[in-house]
Amino acid sequence: MGLPDALRHNLSHAYIIVGEAEERLAVARAFAKELNCLGDSGDDNCLSCRVFESGNHPDIFYVAGTKTTGIGVDDVRSQIVQEMTTSPFKYRYKIFIVDNAETITPQAQNAMLKTIEEPAPYGVFLFLAEHVHTLLPTVLSRCVTVKLGERLKKSEHEAFAEEIASSIANLDILDAMTLYKRFEPYKESRESMSQLLDMLYLAYGRRITRAGAANHPPEKLWFSSIAAIQHTKQILAQNGNFQLAVELMLLKLSGAIQKPM
Ligand SMILES: [Zn+2]
Repeated sequence: MGLPDALRHNLSHAYIIVGEAEERLAVARAFAKELNCLGDSGDDNCLSCRVFESGNHPDIFYVAGTKTTGIGVDDVRSQIVQEMTTSPFKYRYKIFIVDNAETITPQAQNAMLKTIEEPAPYGVFLFLAEHVHTLLPTVLSRCVTVKLGERLKKSEHEAFAEEIASSIANLDILDAMTLYKRFEPYKESRESMSQLLDMLYLAYGRRITRAGAANHPPEKLWFSSIAAIQHTKQILAQNGNFQLAVELMLLKLSGAIQKPM
């Protein structure tokens, strides 16, 4: 299954995966499997993947509360802190999948703080939660938070792209730059960003076509905008800085800086 970019690209040792029950567990399992895969990520043919599918992977642990009050200090000590003191049985990482992490008591969170802060190099923690409101700031700050189910819809890209194309040429530099904020939700999803840029490209293409059909000379800015959008796609495809790339594009689209011909 496709993993969120945040999991794929920045390998931390502690993650909080926030989302609906089935999806967050599926994502965590796919990620755990891939981390310990001995072949090409999650190829299913290696020993680790086969053992994982059989449900008895010796280095992947499912941590659960033993009391109805949630995941307590004893659970955390015996299932995480203690277990982390020994190396993996056979594979690369010891991975702890802690579902319903929002039910870990504050005392228990404190009990595992040191372990997740300075883990052995083989330790990976995947905390799965409905929400993060009950997690301590000290825990949150030590984990990368991944929110699922926030992929933006195609119709939203289209409306946003059209809005930019129709209004940005009238904006001054400052207003054009404030548009960057609206791009932030796209930062974590390369796929959505790529779709948005395609929509934006099409929005300018339509303007040029319409002008041609009506025998009006198309605006020079539309052509340089198309070039700027293409350029931005390239930069992002090569993992360039997201904010710099988007801000530069907005400046070009607003006509504040001209592309040298
Ligand atoms: Zn494998």
